[in-house]
Amino acid sequence: MTRLAPLDLVDADSLLSDEECAIRDTVRKFCTDRIRPHLAEWFEQGDLPARDLAREMGDLGLLGMHLHGYGAAGTNAVSYGLACHELEAADSGVRSLVSVQGSLAMYAIYAYGSEEQKNEWLPKMVKGEAIGCFGLTEADFGSNPGGMRTNAKKDGSDWVLNGTKMWITNGSIADVAVVWARTDEGIRGFVVPTNTKGFTANTVHNKLSLRASVTSELVLANVRLPGDAILPLSRGLSSPLGCLNEARFGIIFGSIGAGRDCLEAAIAYAGDREVFDKPLSAYQLTQAKLAEMAVELGKGMLLAIQLGRLKDAGTLKPEQVSVGKLNNVRAALQIAREARTILGANGITLEYPVMRHANNLESVLTYEGTSEVHLLVIGQALTGQAAFR
Ligand SMILES: Cc1cc2nc3c(=O)[nH]c(=O)nc-3n(C[C@H](O)[C@H](O)[C@H](O)COP(=O)(O)OP(=O)(O)OC[C@H]3O[C@@H](n4cnc5c(N)ncnc54)[C@H](O)[C@@H]3O)c2cc1C
Repeated sequence: MTRLAPLDLVDADSLLSDEECAIRDTVRKFCTDRIRPHLAEWFEQGDLPARDLAREMGDLGLLGMHLHGYGAAGTNAVSYGLACHELEAADSGVRSLVSVQGSLAMYAIYAYGSEEQKNEWLPKMVKGEAIGCFGLTEADFGSNPGGMRTNAKKDGSDWVLNGTKMWITNGSIADVAVVWARTDEGIRGFVVPTNTKGFTANTVHNKLSLRASVTSELVLANVRLPGDAILPLSRGLSSPLGCLNEARFGIIFGSIGAGRDCLEAAIAYAGDREVFDKPLSAYQLTQAKLAEMAVELGKGMLLAIQLGRLKDAGTLKPEQVSVGKLNNVRAALQIAREARTILGANGITLEYPVMRHANNLESVLTYEGTSEVHLLVIGQALTGQAAFR
């Protein structure tokens, strides 16, 4: 069994079971062997072999791993978090592929779908034979998705969907899109096979962040679906927000995985690099930077495990998820930026992971609720006053 990180100053490992450590080690090995050697190339190209990876990660049981039944691995939440930690230590884009598949698209069908919808999609999605995306955000409605314009109207027994979704992870490679739309009864979810007439996905190019991830615009032009395409248990905005809470949970563990990778890179680099005739790591200023990073990582991991235990106990509250997402993404981004300074000019290249992580974490700071939105969620929990508008 390897340690959670060689730099696990708070011995967070001692809080994990042997089974949790074994799952983490399996994912770490998969990332070392299969993902890390290609990351610089994928990031540079702005693409990744998502279909192949999805099947391989399906074989490992990583897709929807914390769900039960339908072929899913049925692990606890902490194990899912540790898998996200390892995936994001490789790249936030790879973790996003898994998060969107399992926590957004699959979870929406799992939590709000009919038995027929679950049986049709979940077994294929568990294996990575079908890829899912989750269309909530629109160009004009990100932090405030309740303003969405995408609508679904009844026509006989059918539904007809019109609208445009933006910034949708996995959109252009998806076989199925969970699309949230305004109906006469409020916001509802729909299961949309992406080969339905009127559905198009356009890949977003020129990104400087999450380049090893597919991001797309979804266009729905008179997409006609049978009456049973609606997610029958979806009710209003709380349904997509329920899915987002699942994905945010993975980010709490994942983001500090990226931070860990940056700290490891910075320590290794500082040990090798000589400046003014001695190793960079022998200078107090460098050690202060490394120590601050390690302290934040240790705190972040303790927070993640505590929130994971609450999730497994079924008591995790949305504002607690906000505390974790806000803190750990901010900490990871700060660590990535500080690590970059230690690497000097080399830090700006893809030969080292730090600037790739720093750029990725800019997206992670924004998606699944921006840091400002999480501050407002926490503020509401503290004061009882909603200050969103
Ligand atoms: C790479 C990537 C992948 C994504 N994948 C998906 C996906 O798969 N599915 C999906 O549905 N969406 C996805 N998103 C969209 C993401 O969830 C939104 O970008 C996010 O919710 C923020 O919305 P916005 O970009 O419209 O920013 P805005 O909502 O316009 O926010 C701009 C700024 O205003 C601030 N702000 C907003 N409201 C308030 C307020 N009340 N008070 C103070 N400040 C405020 C924000 O915090 C932010 O700083 C993705 C985004 C990215 C970048």
